[in-house]
Amino acid sequence: MSKIQNHCSFCGRGEKEVGFLLAGVDGYICNECVEQAHQIISEARGSTGGKSTFQIDIPKPKEIKEYLDDYVIGQDDAKRYLSVAVYNHYKRISSSVQDDVNIEKSNIILVGATGTGKTLLARTIAGFLKVPFAIVDATVLTEAGYVGEDIESILSRLLQVADYDVEAAQRGIVFIDEIDKIARKSDNPSITRDVSGEGVQQGLLKLLEGSVVNVPPQGGRKHPEQKFIQVDTKNILFICGGAFDGIERKIAQRLNTQVVGFESVEKRGRIDNNNLMKYVSPQDLKSFGMIPEIVGRLPVVTYLQPLDRTALRNILTEPKNSLVRQYEKLFAIDGVNLSFQPAVLDYVVDKAIEFKLGARGLRSIMEAIMMDVMFDLPSTDRKKCNITLVYAKKQLEKADGVRLSSV
Ligand code: ADP
Repeated sequence: MSKIQNHCSFCGRGEKEVGFLLAGVDGYICNECVEQAHQIISEARGSTGGKSTFQIDIPKPKEIKEYLDDYVIGQDDAKRYLSVAVYNHYKRISSSVQDDVNIEKSNIILVGATGTGKTLLARTIAGFLKVPFAIVDATVLTEAGYVGEDIESILSRLLQVADYDVEAAQRGIVFIDEIDKIARKSDNPSITRDVSGEGVQQGLLKLLEGSVVNVPPQGGRKHPEQKFIQVDTKNILFICGGAFDGIERKIAQRLNTQVVGFESVEKRGRIDNNNLMKYVSPQDLKSFGMIPEIVGRLPVVTYLQPLDRTALRNILTEPKNSLVRQYEKLFAIDGVNLSFQPAVLDYVVDKAIEFKLGARGLRSIMEAIMMDVMFDLPSTDRKKCNITLVYAKKQLEKADGVRLSSV
């Protein structure tokens, strides 16, 4: 008995005439109709109309910086560098002019202590541009063949975030955290094989410079039966971040040797010894153990300052989604008007400094203070809640200080 043929409900062709049919609730659609529909939608959205649907309205560096200012406190230099680099990057990939001038990629490296806002900056920029954004930790990466994650897993992560839309992923942003942890341990590159350091840097190189990479969809090599997805990294913007503990010494050394000579006195006078980080240069990254090729592929080098008391205090209240605003909103949903005595916020900052937790600790300290009210209040009909210093102190003392200081 011959089987009844299904038909595409849009063009009417039978399943044998088309590549394949997708079944819906009451009908089918063939692959060609899907493609045609996609093209019509792309055109209707006012995109480029052709195959590439990419055209973002690139914001100017000043606009990017203003947006960052709403979410990230301080770090002006890093914001300016990032804004320009991102602007140039997107100009480069949306430019249709074909000539001999090849604008090179402007991958970025952010140097600054942990908890100073490196990830926040990268995440905020990605949110602003509405492009896929993935964060990966360089410490879990190893050379292919060793225990750990392959370099390609970085792209698997990006593909996942982009819902496997390869085109979107190919113009996304990847933040590689803790890049300093894959620095070469020794200045002599040939002593021993350095599985987690130099080898990984070599592996990263091909991603950073732009190449077509075979990416296992789910990451890792545990599913050999899975087909690879080809991802071109040419237009992916890589932002690397690292604390580079001790790099100040390398910077100081370089500055000192540079200032030897008859200009020394004049130059030395201009060096701000309290903030050597702002002089960080590609050369210092090399002295720290990054291979020259990687440094060459990260042409934009910028730094983040340690956050002082004022910055920490501002972080609590000023950003658009500051911690205080977040708690206010949580309470407002229950119809409760939440307020804090200003002294509470100063106290939170003091504790963050005391526990050496930086900005990252502000949240855990606030949580410890707010825990009980967040538990009790929803079961009452109170409409106002003012957190006083006495209450905050009591709550924090009750919370395990040891636990907080190890966050
Ligand atoms: P890093 O990547 O430098 O280690 P993060 O960007 O992850 O640090 O910062 C940790 C948290 O601290 C952020 O989620 C944010 O709440 C807060 N934070 C850090 N720096 C800033 C800043 N400059 N402005 C506002 N919030 C900040």
